[in-house]
Amino acid sequence: MADPKGFLKTQSRELPKRRPVSVRLMDWKEVYEQQESGALRRQAGRCMDCGVPFCHQGCPLGNLIPEWNDLMWRGEGRQAIERLHATNNFPEFTGRLCPAPCESSCVLGINQPPVTIKQVEVSIIDQAFANGWVTPHPPERLTGKTVAVVGSGPAGLAAAQQLTRAGHTVAVYEREDRIGGLLRYGIPDFKMEKKQLEQRIAQMQAEGTRFRARVEIGRDIAWDDLRARYDAVVVATGATVPRDLPIPGRDLSGIHFAMDYLVQQNKVGAGDTVADQITAEGKHVVVLGGGDTGADCIGTAHRQGALSVTNLAIGQQPPEERPEAQPWPMFPTLFEVSSAHEEGGERVYLASTVEFLTNEVGEVRAIRVAETEYVDGRRVPKAGTEREVPADLVLLALGFTGPERVTIEDQLRLTFDGHGSLERGATYETGEPGVFVTGDAGRGQSLIVWAIAEGRATASAVDAYLEGETVLPFPVKPTDRSISV
Ligand SMILES: Cc1cc2nc3c(=O)[nH]c(=O)nc-3n(C[C@H](O)[C@H](O)[C@H](O)COP(=O)(O)OP(=O)(O)OC[C@H]3O[C@@H](n4cnc5c(N)ncnc54)[C@H](O)[C@@H]3O)c2cc1C
Ligand code: SF4
Repeated sequence: MADPKGFLKTQSRELPKRRPVSVRLMDWKEVYEQQESGALRRQAGRCMDCGVPFCHQGCPLGNLIPEWNDLMWRGEGRQAIERLHATNNFPEFTGRLCPAPCESSCVLGINQPPVTIKQVEVSIIDQAFANGWVTPHPPERLTGKTVAVVGSGPAGLAAAQQLTRAGHTVAVYEREDRIGGLLRYGIPDFKMEKKQLEQRIAQMQAEGTRFRARVEIGRDIAWDDLRARYDAVVVATGATVPRDLPIPGRDLSGIHFAMDYLVQQNKVGAGDTVADQITAEGKHVVVLGGGDTGADCIGTAHRQGALSVTNLAIGQQPPEERPEAQPWPMFPTLFEVSSAHEEGGERVYLASTVEFLTNEVGEVRAIRVAETEYVDGRRVPKAGTEREVPADLVLLALGFTGPERVTIEDQLRLTFDGHGSLERGATYETGEPGVFVTGDAGRGQSLIVWAIAEGRATASAVDAYLEGETVLPFPVKPTDRSISV
């Protein structure tokens, strides 16, 4: 156990400072400063090493949180990263980007603020990279079996790393020009700088994973040809189809899906030139949708020099305190002030967008918005409450409906469930032998921590399929929806 009296001596959370808003808006670097090591140790020391560690259940990866809290408190960073890597291939991603459902189920959280688990996690991996403790783990022997992983987001990367280490020859196919999925082209640098991705890809390459960017399976290589070339295929293509808002004026210029906007800025950040880049500079920006994607658009628009940023959400503002209906150890839906929200803009709840309004040359100039009212549980615009919100750029961040269908349906003959996600069985295998589905493609729009957990479990299932048995862990079933997320 970490400090036996730690939770009595330190009763509050200490998190690293965010850089001042006026400074961080001038660049694209991560917003957090380094945390002083004493504060981190105090936080790790608050962990009570509970007999039943609910945080294990809160984390979809089953991270061994009390063990590495204890090791960090003792200053045993090298052992801490070994325990962390035992369950999580990529703590540098989750330590920066996870909403930390583990903290909602921390036992200390019943009557005190929970341990800053996510901060301890990211400190362990940052320290490990800085000290050269993250080294390649190539397999001791090769099995002679080959696996194609299609899609290089966190699910595909986790599956590929596990399978490579198990001795299979793995190639990751990605249709974009760079590897990383949404970690590369969705999430902006101010949330996670791309060097985090580069150093992990370098480790994977040194272990033997092969990366094939700019290859779209279904177009550049037919799915059947891919199956013929490999002993198993993992479909990790994400849930990339954006939800649209088909209301009057939708075809005006100046209205874009959030991902079209975010991808372009991430490419510019990588040093590319993007012709006719969608930019918020000098514009009144309206972001529709209140989730992570919306927040990423807000932070990006402010850095590009928007005149104003308004974020409209159709639903009610979530409560600031845990509601009774979501008691500990559940992961509650709370009003969140992310770093992007802190940087400015107005957030409006119960706002139903009714129409996009045009100027004389066919560009959007405003949107007509009404108050949302609930009628028989449905959200509808309330009559007589309509008003105009000026908008030269509208970004639709309304979520995703599922994976793209065409070539997967036609060439691979996979089926989709009622939510639009790819169907798979209890071991992630589909009706087509040797074809597995993992991550958002099968789960629907979700989180990085779930994508990594599914990628690890899928690798275990693929290894068992190829070898008849496996020692790889199987952290989550496709149907798992823990009480946390
Ligand atoms: C803007 C944004 C911000 C987010 N922020 C967070 C966050 O802060 N924290 C969090 O936990 N989650 C966040 N999420 C969700 C998280 O990113 C996803 O749940 C996660 O990336 C899913 O991983 P995945 O590997 O299943 O798919 P993805 O990351 O979507 O990767 C799928 C990849 O497959 C490729 N692909 C698709 N079809 C083909 C094909 N036919 N051939 C070759 N390649 C193909 C795609 O180009 C893509 O690169 C965010 C999502 C978005 C959109
Ligand atoms: S991956 Fe997420 S849920 Fe798991 S320990 Fe880290 S922050 Fe917590």
